[in-house]
Amino acid sequence: MRTQVGIVGGGPAGTLLSHLLHLRGIESVVLELRSREEVETTVRAGVLEDGTAELLRETGVGERMDREGAVHEGIELRFGGRGHRIDMTGLTGGRKIFVYGQQEVVKDLYNARLEAGGQIVFQAAATDLADLETSTPKIRFRRNAWLDVDAGAIRFRGDAEEEELTCDYVVGCDGFFGPCRAAIPDNVRTEHVRTYPFGWFGILVEGPPATEELIYALHERGFALVSTRSPEIQRLYFQCDPEDSVDNWPDEKIWEELRARLATEDGWTLEEGRIFQKNIVGMRSFICEPMQHGRLFLAGDAAHIVPPTGAKGMNLAVADVRVLARGLDEFYSTGRTGLLDSYSQTCLRRVWKASRFSWWMTSMLHRFHHEDDFRYRLQLAELDYVTSSRAASTSLAENYVGLPMEPQEEGELSAQRTGGAR
Ligand SMILES: Cc1cc2nc3c(=O)[nH]c(=O)nc-3n(C[C@H](O)[C@H](O)[C@H](O)COP(=O)(O)OP(=O)(O)OC[C@H]3O[C@@H](n4cnc5c(N)ncnc54)[C@H](O)[C@@H]3O)c2cc1C
Repeated sequence: MRTQVGIVGGGPAGTLLSHLLHLRGIESVVLELRSREEVETTVRAGVLEDGTAELLRETGVGERMDREGAVHEGIELRFGGRGHRIDMTGLTGGRKIFVYGQQEVVKDLYNARLEAGGQIVFQAAATDLADLETSTPKIRFRRNAWLDVDAGAIRFRGDAEEEELTCDYVVGCDGFFGPCRAAIPDNVRTEHVRTYPFGWFGILVEGPPATEELIYALHERGFALVSTRSPEIQRLYFQCDPEDSVDNWPDEKIWEELRARLATEDGWTLEEGRIFQKNIVGMRSFICEPMQHGRLFLAGDAAHIVPPTGAKGMNLAVADVRVLARGLDEFYSTGRTGLLDSYSQTCLRRVWKASRFSWWMTSMLHRFHHEDDFRYRLQLAELDYVTSSRAASTSLAENYVGLPMEPQEEGELSAQRTGGAR
């Protein structure tokens, strides 16, 4: 098999890249380990930055998002038994976020790619990358693959033979556990890691939204988040021990914990519903530098992970592939490689800023139970400051709705702050 750009992973990063390349007349093949149904039903991210929503709209895959997604103009920070609204739209010159599930974004992208005759090979596992430092890099893969989640291993049905996809460029959009990152040699690759001493206990609930805007709460017992995925499905989280088991948490105990952490002096009540999924996710920050080697580029979770507190993971994946699509476009239309050569540097500037924001939100909103009360009191003071100072609220708001996707757009931020034109 031969293609111009071989993409490993058909999550948001890989599928959007394939779509952006198609719009520029560049051919690609996406290899995705899981079945289409599995990817389309995995509920993960749900907060789209202003720029992410705009990109989907501009490239013709935002119609359902605009119809079915929810526009949010603010978030609530809740502490000391009171809620404080951050008016994101008012503080950022009219920008907002969209609540629209990652699985819905991927569904829209799959439909667009498949209708345009795009090639997404489902249940195909990349096993090895080769010749990355030549002009004909290769992806070795096997079809009929499936992910054995319990064992954390890839398995194959029948005797699937190894095949080879020869490309001009290979892009690793294979998430944190995929094989592409390891193809950057150890002596070239640096991995920055921060593991947090807590996890998130997440539930999916059938029922209407409990609030109009997302609530981020800090309570003596720990963090809680009230979020939504659609008018019918709600997403709630609370901070937990990352080693805890969902089996220790019957439904009533979960609601009791959430009620305690979200309680307010004015008697706000939490809308409850049928819990149909429970899971625990660990919290870590991770950045791989550089994000490219030879003719291999990494994008999205394959290159970086942020704790979900800042709602940045999928948005970073989108920003990466936007930069990469422009670089590949430059190469195919002019033969120049300037944008491709600076891909890693361009992306990492934004990735580090989003990591800082995600780390800051995480540090401000979680209980560090192993530390003394001094830290907790500082966190409360910081929340008090953030919610009472216009400058501090603006800083949170502009990060939350999304920093500019590429350096040339950075002038827009200062224009928003001064209310002037660029
Ligand atoms: C609980 C939770 C909540 C989150 N909330 C938010 C949020 O509100 N906002 C936000 O922006 N982000 C959020 N995120 C993060 C977001 O989900 C990820 O950042 C996003 O999925 C990254 O997209 P990706 O395409 O880079 O990687 P993935 O979505 O991980 O896609 C990688 C794909 O590669 C495939 N793959 C892996 N190995 C192979 C192989 N060997 N061969 C072929 N294919 C392979 C996988 O099957 C997968 O489909 C959240 C994450 C979690 C876990």
